[in-house]
Amino acid sequence: MKAVFITGHGGNEVVEIGERPRPARGPGEVLVRMRAATLNRVDLYMRDSGAGITHRLPQIMGLDGAGIVEEVDASETSLSPGQRVVVHPGIACGRCEFCQRGEGVLCTSIQYLGEHRDGTLAEYVCLPATNVFPMPESLDFAEAAALGVNHLTAWRMLFTKAQLKPWETVLIFGIGGGVSLAALQLAKLAGSRAIVTSRDDPKLQRALAMGADHAINGTTQDVAREVMALTGGRGVDVVIENVGQAVWSSALKSLVRGGRIVTCGATTGDQPPADLRRIFIRQLQLFGSTLGDLDEFRHLLALTGRAALRPVIDSRYPLGDVHAALDRLEAGSQFGKIAITIDEP
Ligand code: ZN
Repeated sequence: MKAVFITGHGGNEVVEIGERPRPARGPGEVLVRMRAATLNRVDLYMRDSGAGITHRLPQIMGLDGAGIVEEVDASETSLSPGQRVVVHPGIACGRCEFCQRGEGVLCTSIQYLGEHRDGTLAEYVCLPATNVFPMPESLDFAEAAALGVNHLTAWRMLFTKAQLKPWETVLIFGIGGGVSLAALQLAKLAGSRAIVTSRDDPKLQRALAMGADHAINGTTQDVAREVMALTGGRGVDVVIENVGQAVWSSALKSLVRGGRIVTCGATTGDQPPADLRRIFIRQLQLFGSTLGDLDEFRHLLALTGRAALRPVIDSRYPLGDVHAALDRLEAGSQFGKIAITIDEP
């Protein structure tokens, strides 16, 4: 089958577009004929260095994805061949203490598609039936694929970790990135007030058009000061953050007393000053978050179908043009997800 796989670590020269064996389906697994996936920051980390993640080369890239069920156990009750499906990329062990208490997302031996095992940038992917969900009818394959990492991550950050309420205000850094846009869409669906930041005015304009209540340019404006002006000197209830070091100080200064900050990434560096005095005196709450569990994904999919939620697709590239797609992701100028479309074999 056709696939995109890394043969080493470096630049696009280690990303090969070629033939890999079609995976053999085991009992309890689903063979999915992939139709689309989207790129995530971690695809670059895997290409560049492997990011310290245990994996074997060559390994097929890609975390999220959507496609059509090709083969499934005859005893499977909720999936059948020909069905359009979307995948949850984290395969938990089911046996460790975290899995046993229903927190598969904390599993000590979780395997992510495209990180620890072959991913979704391929004509076929095999994975446990528990990780395969019927796709919302309202979306195309690329839009559905986008839910599996970014929207799921944003869902857990906003609703499970920060417990965002409709009357609260959330500050979202780095609008244009996949998780930030997903957080904006979900926060607005929840009825909350959303303030977004970017260093790029066109991105801020697009975010305002999508329903953001206020937009702050992080280069030309002082974010914390603007937030205080917009909130009557109070500060926001929740900060959603994956930029890291470059914005950490303004993020903490933008929070109301007792406010919550959730981080899921650190693209500009992961060692900002902790500002501990501010954290304890103002009793701030800090949450780390990664992806989301199967139950959270089920809830996200239910809401997507009901609420006309549609992930923003920046651009679409055929599988054979993955190098250009990775270049676009690396340049950071995208607004929304960079999708890879996969033709029927
Ligand atoms: Zn486990």
